[in-house]
Amino acid sequence: MVALAELRESIEEIMPGVVADRRDFHENPELAFHEVRTAGIVAERLRALGVEDIRTGIAGTGVTGLIRGEAAAGGKTVLLRADMDALPILEENEVDYVSRTPGVMHACGHDAHTAMLLAVSRTLATRRGEFGGTVKVLFQPAEEMPPGGAKPMIAAGVLEDPHVDAVFGLHINQDGPLGTIDVRSGPYMAAADRFSIKIHGKGGHGARPQDSVDPILIGAQIVTALQALVAREVDPVESGVVSVCVFKSGEAFNVIPDTAELGGTVRTFTQANRDLLERRLGEVATGVATALRAVAEVDYTRGYPATVNDPAMTEIAREAAIETVGVEHVRDGAMLMGAEDFSYFLQERPGSFFFVGSRNPERGLIWGHHHPRFDLDEAALAVGIEMMTRTALKYLAS
Ligand SMILES: [Zn+2]
Ligand SMILES: [Zn+2]
Repeated sequence: MVALAELRESIEEIMPGVVADRRDFHENPELAFHEVRTAGIVAERLRALGVEDIRTGIAGTGVTGLIRGEAAAGGKTVLLRADMDALPILEENEVDYVSRTPGVMHACGHDAHTAMLLAVSRTLATRRGEFGGTVKVLFQPAEEMPPGGAKPMIAAGVLEDPHVDAVFGLHINQDGPLGTIDVRSGPYMAAADRFSIKIHGKGGHGARPQDSVDPILIGAQIVTALQALVAREVDPVESGVVSVCVFKSGEAFNVIPDTAELGGTVRTFTQANRDLLERRLGEVATGVATALRAVAEVDYTRGYPATVNDPAMTEIAREAAIETVGVEHVRDGAMLMGAEDFSYFLQERPGSFFFVGSRNPERGLIWGHHHPRFDLDEAALAVGIEMMTRTALKYLAS
């Protein structure tokens, strides 16, 4: 096993380079499936480190590589994943590494994830003699844009050749103080589905409602009725959300329109609740519309599934977290209604996804993910690198 002080020192030594990488990615953000420059730098770095079997262009811009331990023959393979994509946001930060591409910004921390996994690759590549088994590093496109990059990478075979036994991933956490790590066993992040409902009524004069079928009134009834699903049909000790976020209809103050359009999102943690809400949302929308003489067309699209951490793998992550930041700074993560396409890896293999705190109010680094002023305390990168390295080594030694 690697000595604590020695690992930390070696990470501290490479931190200037890690921060430079993160700032370079930050200055040059690329949207989902367009991470060409980023993926190019990743592949180049992995080659320079002597990482084996580097594969590029997977699902567009995905990259993988292998770091084979030399301490023992055979052994297991663990996959470590980073996402590389930025968001369509105009950055409002005044830093010298501000985005050079107007309207595109690393506002979620994926620049940090990429820089951290490169550093983990470096740390492990220089310690091949200290572990047995194989580490597969994976850099994926398009986490921010469902259906995302994870699913097509899995379809392209990244979990085989060699067969991957376990998967780990992390996210920078602007809701967590610098120096903390959040871990959680079981359901962690929600499944995120979207729906749209088109109500076909009958337009007419605003003063003659008897000649019309008013889609706005019917839409309003549907909005209200949908709120009964989570309140009355989901087990109250479980969680779910149905949010109507779009309601479009009408142009003139004295015209009842023909149609109205609703749209929104459904979040759940279990397959049963996901199935229930999908089915009942359709039944309620069409039922209410029918009762009020209209027709509702419902379109329901499943997005990322729930992110569910394996208990044994989470225990390994928790032990690594305790060694990295001390037991008092390891927190039980609260369930989050946001979604993550790392969930697809967790559907295929046991693993764990964890959060590395990066919030620092003293430095004004308080803005949340996807905010135009999002920025993180880069000291969190050292924590993430150590945590990920320890998790991988601990898993391979288990
Ligand atoms: Zn994000
Ligand atoms: Zn993210």
